[in-house]
Amino acid sequence: MSLHNGRPHLAIPGPSVMPDSVLAAMMRPAPNIYEGDLVDMTATIVADLKRVARTEAGCAIYICNGHGLWEAALANVVTPGNSVLVPATGRFGHGWAETARRIGADVHLIEFGKQSPVDPERVAEALRADKDHRIKAVLAVHVDTSTGIRSDIPALRRVLDETGHPALLMADCIASLGCDRVEMDAWGVDVLLAASQKGLMTPPGIGFLWVSDKAQAERVNSVSAYWDWAPRIAPQGYYQHFCGTAPTHHLFALRAALDLLMEEGMEHVWARHETLARAVWAACEAWGQAGPLTVNAPVGARSNAVTALRLGGALADSLRKWTAEEAGLTLGIGLGMAEPGDPDFGGFFRIGHMGHLNAHMILGTLGVIEAGLQACDIPHGEGGVAAAARICAGR
Ligand SMILES: *Cc1c(COP(=O)(O)O)cnc(C)c1O
Repeated sequence: MSLHNGRPHLAIPGPSVMPDSVLAAMMRPAPNIYEGDLVDMTATIVADLKRVARTEAGCAIYICNGHGLWEAALANVVTPGNSVLVPATGRFGHGWAETARRIGADVHLIEFGKQSPVDPERVAEALRADKDHRIKAVLAVHVDTSTGIRSDIPALRRVLDETGHPALLMADCIASLGCDRVEMDAWGVDVLLAASQKGLMTPPGIGFLWVSDKAQAERVNSVSAYWDWAPRIAPQGYYQHFCGTAPTHHLFALRAALDLLMEEGMEHVWARHETLARAVWAACEAWGQAGPLTVNAPVGARSNAVTALRLGGALADSLRKWTAEEAGLTLGIGLGMAEPGDPDFGGFFRIGHMGHLNAHMILGTLGVIEAGLQACDIPHGEGGVAAAARICAGR
């Protein structure tokens, strides 16, 4: 007997669960892309995107995923031979560094491993050592989705200011925006990146750069036409917003998602994610009392959007298989935690807790994981779900 019939639940760290109102917003015929609803609606979307990122900065929308945004951010200000500094806390930091290398940048990578946040002091050392100010930008990943590590972005602003270094501060908030607190202007971020399919609850395929005046002033004329942020931030005609045809149905979906965020209010959105994340950690810690399960990120450096877990061996693969096949719950694979061929390659998994989630969805996810630990004979401590319930109850 299997228990998987019923509404499936996707608990991977992106794409996230899409609200019914977001799905319904896309069920419509193709709109006029020259005037009317779509054009009027785009202005409201840009205004609300600025509210979500807490900024007055310009906003450019791209038809691309997060990898495209990495390239878009770099293409506007970095030319071959320029240096960039990348403090890496997981696979996504390495990915952005590789994108920079491929466009010809000289990449200085500071490796923080898989279980520590960025140490601002080491970034300060690298900035001090760069006496000629060759480093054009610091590429920081706020939440590295592979490790679940959250780093302190305002601390990087402080070290740039303290060292008097003029580099731009770029922050990849693709996993964190709409989940963990993000405040672009208060934090002094120059270029902020986010994609549609995580905290913004919209299908993958559009992404956003918010660009400070300082970064806009450093735009290079050699930027390629498609990645150029200038016409997207200040379009002369509607088509310039998107360098061609608008991503019509994504925009209707995004409008519906932003309505949900605006109605709830960002402070409440962040508080909800924080409580649900604490429920996840409470369960994991109870299970870890008598067995191999551990939360990858140390306390104090955990993201409210995603939790990466260690089980060892191939236990995580067995658990994921059971929850998907027997209970309708898809958990995230481990990403970049071990190389293929490593005996622990199948020993990692992730729980995405970003976006359209409430207590019943999180407690359901945790209940199924607890059942899976039992079904797969994975030793674990008692009371994980009860511990999570206490957090949801405010106890
Ligand atoms: C998901 C993610 C990306 C990559 O986004 P894609 O849409 O998969 O290209 C980059 N950075 C972070 C932090 C992410 O979470």
